[in-house]
Amino acid sequence: MSASRAGRTDNADSTNSADSTDNADNADSTDSTAAPVHHLSHRRDLAVRAAVRQGLVDERQPVAGLLDVAALRERAAALRAAFDDVSAPGTTALHAFAVKAASLVPVLRLLRDAGLGAEVASPGELALARAAGVPPERIVLDSPAKTTEELREALRLGVAVNADNPQELARLDALVPEFDQQPPIGLRVNPQLGAGSINAMSTATATSKFGVPLRDAGAREEVRRAFLARPWLSRLHVHSGSQGVPPELMAEGVAAGHELAEEVNAAAGRRQVTGIDIGGGLPVDFTTDEPADDFAAYAALLRRRVPGLFDGRYALVTEFGRALAAKAGTVLARVEYTKSAGGRAIAVTHAGAQTAVRTVFAPDAWPLRVLTYDAAGGVKTTSGARGVVQDVAGPCCFAGDLVATGRELPELAPGDLVALPDTGAYYFSTPFGYNSLPRPGVYGFTVDRSGEVRFATVRRAQTLAEIVAEAGGAHDDALTALR
Ligand SMILES: *Cc1c(COP(=O)(O)O)cnc(C)c1O
Repeated sequence: MSASRAGRTDNADSTNSADSTDNADNADSTDSTAAPVHHLSHRRDLAVRAAVRQGLVDERQPVAGLLDVAALRERAAALRAAFDDVSAPGTTALHAFAVKAASLVPVLRLLRDAGLGAEVASPGELALARAAGVPPERIVLDSPAKTTEELREALRLGVAVNADNPQELARLDALVPEFDQQPPIGLRVNPQLGAGSINAMSTATATSKFGVPLRDAGAREEVRRAFLARPWLSRLHVHSGSQGVPPELMAEGVAAGHELAEEVNAAAGRRQVTGIDIGGGLPVDFTTDEPADDFAAYAALLRRRVPGLFDGRYALVTEFGRALAAKAGTVLARVEYTKSAGGRAIAVTHAGAQTAVRTVFAPDAWPLRVLTYDAAGGVKTTSGARGVVQDVAGPCCFAGDLVATGRELPELAPGDLVALPDTGAYYFSTPFGYNSLPRPGVYGFTVDRSGEVRFATVRRAQTLAEIVAEAGGAHDDALTALR
């Protein structure tokens, strides 16, 4: 099993340039009515067809993640264009990609080469960023639960740290003297602005677990004292957005951080706070393939609301995740069976909670579009007729494992494919190990002008042997031997 999987993966790599049949077929599909290849949706359609042709999705591997490399590059370039041209001479923003959004080493390498750094929140994420070759001075460590060892390692490496709370600052008091020089060390504050539309995603409510709550009694004074007592504390960190939080509210959070920085510097009588980390959190529109000018619009909003952020006195750090990667990803899964229950048509597919955990468990907060393809990977439409109202179910053994309910779609049949677009962040890169389902393979793709699709393996599908190993396979006798 593992051998055949590995073979298939190699195949995905080696077919890159060699697939002349694909080339011809793709050229066919590049007809005059199709959207140009520079359009995301057209590239996705071509990639789906090629993925079927090249066996990236089949009986043995019925679900995969596809990553549009051009889309990732476009998003990185859009982010840099939005912020970097406004920096004062000598200062460019550090755009630290939030690794949790797409924790895949080749993605981090691609973004590094596109000029981005990495925001990490665990030893694992730090290891991924380092494996991708992101230099320590372009990494920011942000977890709310860093151990003393993690803090020491960050200081040793020269990775910037944002402390979450006064107890963490006290730990840093003990660690900082161990080193001749420190990376930038900041303090995360929570401006307590209120929630967005998704409570679990709102980082700036009155009771959010992150950062020092600025509006609590005495907190502001405590923050000021914390800075004055620590000459090495030089950054303020505000990550107050997320999906569901409007950019206007995020900008208020950034304004609160900037105001506090000015206050601290006035009290210190010097420029102690030299950097402001505005976090990430820009929401994504999951309803459309149309390009967004979201980074430019947000940067323009910040320039109006917080002009002092751009006057060159503060090094600027950003930590976007979803807005960079979501649009680049697609979950592609086979329809295994179709059935009907209580009058409702149900398509049982291989895309469920293991790859779309948020959508399955919080469907109202995280609705996804479902696109339909036939067994050959061709776009499946209703040709003008009405579709069939269907549930799109996943393979997991619990009743709620549905990625869409009551959705009008072309009538699906076994062997067809469904695609979940906008899943490049927090979906297939963040799988859920339910039912011992494998982590799906992830393949990056590019499409050239003629419509030829090239794939590269980003992560091969987990093998059965790996699933057994992760389930304690090496300790099979551990419990029976325990007397
Ligand atoms: C998750 C997170 C981000 C990225 O958030 P997105 O919504 O994906 O942009 C940035 N900074 C911190 C501290 C985070 O926890």
